[in-house]
Amino acid sequence: MSAARNKPGAPTDDGKVVPLRKARACPICDKPSVRSLYPFCSERCRQIDLNRWLTGAYAIPAAEEDPGSGGDGSHDGGDAA
Ligand SMILES: [Zn+2]
Repeated sequence: MSAARNKPGAPTDDGKVVPLRKARACPICDKPSVRSLYPFCSERCRQIDLNRWLTGAYAIPAAEEDPGSGGDGSHDGGDAA
């Protein structure tokens, strides 16, 4: 009797291990995404998501500081008589 149950990524007896998901749910409609349009399920959903970005529906944190502000360069010009 040979127990051939060596599946790749097979869950153990505790059943807590979730097998690797092939398709990720579409962030727009929660449908299984397709590979060519990952992570979306259709071209339409992709456009919807793109449109959200363009219309500013997504909040983009503008954490950008200018490093060149208040530069005196005090360590330069030591040519005093
Ligand atoms: Zn979708």
